[in-house]
Amino acid sequence: MIFNVVIDTPLYQTFDYLPPVDVLCDNIQLGSRLLVPFGIGNHKKVAFLVSITDHSDFAINKLKRVDKIIDAQSLLSAHDLTLLRWVSRYYHHPLGEVISIAFPSGLRKGKAAVINTKTHDVDTELKNIALSSNTAQQTAIDTVCANLGKFGVFLLEGVTGSGKTEVYLQIIHTVLQRGQQVLVLVPEISLTPQLEARFKHRFAVNIAVSHSKLTDNQRQAAWLQAQQGTCAILLGTRSALFTPFVNLGLIVLDEEHDASFKQQEGLRFSARDTAIVRGKLLNIPVLLGSATPSLESLHNVTKQRYQLLHLPERAGSSVEPVLQLLDIRNKKMREGLSEALLVEIRKTLAKNEQVLLFLNRRGFAPTLICHGCGWVARCQHCEANLVIHVDEALLRCHHCSTEYRLSEHCPDCKTGELTPLGLGTERVEKVLTKVFPDKTILRLDRDSTRRKGVLEDYLDQINQGKVDIILGTQMLAKGHHFPNVTLVAILNVDSGLFSIDFHAAEKLAQMIVQVSGRAGRAEKTGTVIMQTRQPEHSLLTTLIKHGYKSFANSALAERQAAQLPPFSYQALLSAQARDEQLAQSFLQAVTDLAAPYLNNTVHLLGPVPAPMAKRASFYRYQLLMQSPQRADLQALLDKLIPELAKLKFKVRWSLDVDPVDLQ
Ligand code: ADP
Ligand code: ZN
Ligand code: ZN
Repeated sequence: MIFNVVIDTPLYQTFDYLPPVDVLCDNIQLGSRLLVPFGIGNHKKVAFLVSITDHSDFAINKLKRVDKIIDAQSLLSAHDLTLLRWVSRYYHHPLGEVISIAFPSGLRKGKAAVINTKTHDVDTELKNIALSSNTAQQTAIDTVCANLGKFGVFLLEGVTGSGKTEVYLQIIHTVLQRGQQVLVLVPEISLTPQLEARFKHRFAVNIAVSHSKLTDNQRQAAWLQAQQGTCAILLGTRSALFTPFVNLGLIVLDEEHDASFKQQEGLRFSARDTAIVRGKLLNIPVLLGSATPSLESLHNVTKQRYQLLHLPERAGSSVEPVLQLLDIRNKKMREGLSEALLVEIRKTLAKNEQVLLFLNRRGFAPTLICHGCGWVARCQHCEANLVIHVDEALLRCHHCSTEYRLSEHCPDCKTGELTPLGLGTERVEKVLTKVFPDKTILRLDRDSTRRKGVLEDYLDQINQGKVDIILGTQMLAKGHHFPNVTLVAILNVDSGLFSIDFHAAEKLAQMIVQVSGRAGRAEKTGTVIMQTRQPEHSLLTTLIKHGYKSFANSALAERQAAQLPPFSYQALLSAQARDEQLAQSFLQAVTDLAAPYLNNTVHLLGPVPAPMAKRASFYRYQLLMQSPQRADLQALLDKLIPELAKLKFKVRWSLDVDPVDLQ
C-alpha cells in the first residue's frame, strides 16, 4: 500500500509514503489527516490522503513512513474531496493548499477534531412565524421548494426590502423539515449583525456562524457542528463554503453580486461559482439573491442556465425611493456639499428624519499638494499619493499602510503652504459639524470603527434615532436597515465614472442602487440625490430613468461588442519583484512558453505594468489571457502553469482565473 498525500505547500504534486507500522489501514478513508515526516529536516507535517496505490515511481526502500493517522474517519466526504479537486484544477492552485484552506486553522495544524467551545442545545422544533407571503414571494418559494433534491440555480432578483430574506427563510424552513442542513453565505456578517439575529429569532434549531471576526476556536466549533450534523444552518462568509456537511439540502448566497465573494489573494476562488459546482455535485438547489444581480448571473439567466425569480416591489407598505441627479456644475460648493443639498438636508432634519451621506473615500483628503511648488506627498514604496488623516495627524498610504509625518511646510521648497486636495469622510465630517452644530453626526468608515464593538454600538445609536446625519463609506451600502433615513445623498458619484477597469461601471451602478436601498424602508418615502458634474452621462440617466435592469442590459451589450466577460473568459497572471526588469522579463518568458500552446481562440495581452505599477516596494506587471472558449483558456493554463515553477526567476507570481479586479 502506497499513500499519495498532499501537503500545505505551494507545490503542484503529491508525495508517496508507506503506511505506519503496526497499524491496520484497511479502512482508512481518503481525505484523512496524517502526520508525516517532510523535507530535509523530517519535520512533522500534516498531510491529507488523496489516493492509495500499489506502486510508486520511487524505490520502495526510499519512501518514508507515515508517522500517525490523525483521523480514524475522514472529516471530508468523497463529495468534499471532489469539490476541492475541482477547485484546485480550475483555479490552478496546489491541491495541498486548497484542502488546507477547507479546514479551520486548528485542524489544519493537526489538532484533534473536538469542539472546544460551548454550543447551544439542539432543538429541532421549528418556530415557524412566517409572514404571509405576497404572490411573487410565494411563486419564488414554490419554485425552489419544488426543486429540492435536484440541482438548479435560481436567481432571486428584488430591490432592497422586497422580501428576499423572507423568501430564504421560508424555503429554509421546508429544507429543515426534510431533515436537511442549509448553508447561507453572505458578504460580511460582522457588518450585518441584524441578519444573524433574524435567523436566530426565526428558527429554534441550532445555527452556527462563521466569519473572520470570530476566534479560531469558534470557527472550528461551527465547522465541526456542520460536519457532525449538530447544526442545522451554517451562516458564514466566503470561506465557509468549504465546510463539510452531513446532509446539505440547499445553498443560499445573498448579495451574489458582491465582490467579496471573490477571494483576492492566495486561492483566488469565487465562492459563488464554486457554490454552484458544489450544488451540482450534491444535486441540490443553489439560490442566489440580489437587488443588483451581477452581469454574469443575468447573462446566465438569458442562457437559461439559471432560473430568474423576480420580486417586483417592496414588501409590506414601504415605497421605493426617488432617485434624482443634482447638477453641481458652476455651483458654489462647501467642502463637497452644494447649497441645494444643504437645503434638502435641513428640510429632512426639520421633519426629525435622518440623513445618510455617502462618500467612498476615508481620511481627510486623498492628496496633499504644495501651493508653492506643486510637490505632492507620495508613498516611498508605492506608486500612490498619501492620504491625509487629520484626526491622527499623519499621512498614510492606503496600499502598504506606511505612515508619514504630517508637516506644516513643504519638504521640497521649504516655504510653500501644503494644501489638501479632494474630499474624504473626515473632511466632510468637519464641515458638517460646523454647518449643523446642534445635530448629532456620526462618521462610519473603517477608521472610525476599527475598535471591536464600535460598529455595533454605532448601528444601535442610529436605530435608536440618536443620530441625525450618518456619513460613511461603502460599509453603509451593505444590508443595513435604517428605517428613519429618508434622504440619501451620494456626494461624489463622478469619481466612479472614469475607471480603466471595465468592471467599474457595473460596480458603480450596483453601489448606487444598494446605497439607495437604505432610504425610506419604513412607511416614509425616501429621496436619493446624486451630486454630479456629468448629468448627461448615460450610466446615470439610464439608471434613473429605467432602473438597474436597463443599465445591465446596455452594459451587457457593450461587453458583448467588446468581447469582454461574460462573453469571453479571462485569467490574469501577475508578477511582482523588487527589480522592475525582472517582473517584466518573467512574464515575457511566460509569453514565450505559451506560444506553442496557443490556438486561435486564446489571446495574450501584455506583459504590461499593472494599473498600480508599484506597491510595497514591488514592481508589478501583468499578462491577461483571454478566450471566448472557457475550455481553450483552461487547456492553455493546464499546460502553462506547471511549467512556471521551472522558470528560474526571483519573482512572486499569482494567477487569477475569472478576475473581477484588474488592479
Ligand atoms: P430584503 O431581504 O429583500 O431586503 P426583507 O425580507 O428583509 O427584504 O423584507 C423587508 C421588510 O419587509 C422586512 O421588515 C420584512 O419583515 C418585511 N416583509 C417581507 N415580506 C413580507 C410580507 N410578505 N408581508 C409583510 N411584510 C413583509
Ligand atoms: Zn513646495
Ligand atoms: Zn505605500
